[in-house]
Amino acid sequence: AASPSKRYTITLLPGDGIGPEVISVAKNVLNLAATIEGIEFKYQEMPVGGNALDLTGVPLPEETLSAAKQSDAVLLGAIGGYKWDKNEKHLKPETGLLKLREGLKVFANLRPAVVLPQLVDASTLKREVAEGVDLMVIRELTGGIYFGQPRGFGTNENGEEIGFNTEVYAAYEIDRIARVAFETARKRQGKLCSVDKANVLEASMFWRKRILEIALDYPDVELSHMYVDNAAMQLVRNPKQFDTIVTNNIFGDILSDEASMITGSIGMLPSASLGESGPGLFEPIHGSAPDIAGQDKANPLATVLSAAMLLKYGLGEENAAKRIEAAVLDTLNRGFRTVDIYSSGTKLVGCKEMGEEVLKSVDSLV
Ligand code: ATP
Ligand code: MG
Repeated sequence: AASPSKRYTITLLPGDGIGPEVISVAKNVLNLAATIEGIEFKYQEMPVGGNALDLTGVPLPEETLSAAKQSDAVLLGAIGGYKWDKNEKHLKPETGLLKLREGLKVFANLRPAVVLPQLVDASTLKREVAEGVDLMVIRELTGGIYFGQPRGFGTNENGEEIGFNTEVYAAYEIDRIARVAFETARKRQGKLCSVDKANVLEASMFWRKRILEIALDYPDVELSHMYVDNAAMQLVRNPKQFDTIVTNNIFGDILSDEASMITGSIGMLPSASLGESGPGLFEPIHGSAPDIAGQDKANPLATVLSAAMLLKYGLGEENAAKRIEAAVLDTLNRGFRTVDIYSSGTKLVGCKEMGEEVLKSVDSLV
């Protein structure tokens, strides 16, 4: 191994349920890939979610947030579980995650959806449609209708009860997510599709105007626009047409879940949430899976791939990221499967053993 030239501090937030199991695997994989690539990591492990509630009475202790803010990247397992489901809103584990995203000011959520050749049968789509899908949904995470004012309940001029929300985007909010999207598209196949509803909504017309403005700085990226209703349809009709998709908070919420079902493997899907300059937050898209927690059944690969995103998008360590991605493919090629992706003829392993096999692949690949 090369002698370490680069040092980073990583905050590990194992969280609840299967979180600690998958984080433990990802940490080992991260460590080995880093060592081989001449990177040195220092880890700080902190409580968040249900375990933080039990320990400190709040779902996001101040020490956890400040440690996260001061580190170079944050790797999160999963949050929540039956035990806390009846808690009041401010004492719910999930509130800890929202506060963490808010505290880290991560406005760009990246969710790749890749149909791996080894797992094409897990897809909800027909083989010919699913085969070769490799797309990325980039969702604006801190603005739009989920946060816009005014919002609330009231009465209209006829005295009828109403509920209302407001879609608001400022230029700077669109510009910064647009830049993340163009930069990401550039690192991928160079195609960006911006999804909006500019035929109906002023906020979307403005979105499109800003995207076009930022596009002037990225002449090498092929930009297209699509209305969200059409995008929802195209995602199941012919997902291969997409490379990188950028969209607002609410459309991204829906389209990223739709895209994840194309792959059909919740245990395989990573995500990254990026801010302007501070540390990014990296986590699998699955939840805490309390039904299988503590049984060594969880698929750790979503978290392992989140660690690869941490290296690539969080630290710019592309070589180490590629090594981990290649190791995951190699492990699948060697036939190892956790129960969620098992099919006949493959080798069923638990979370720990899957981790050990990935380590072997990380070590053996040049
Ligand atoms: P959230 O906690 O985000 O609301 P959820 O409750 O909708 O998520 P998950 O906790 O992700 O869902 O679990 C959904 C199902 O998928 C469960 O049956 C769970 O066991 C399974 N599952 C989730 N993640 C994994 C994983 N990494 N490996 C294997 N199975 C998983
Ligand atoms: Mg859940």
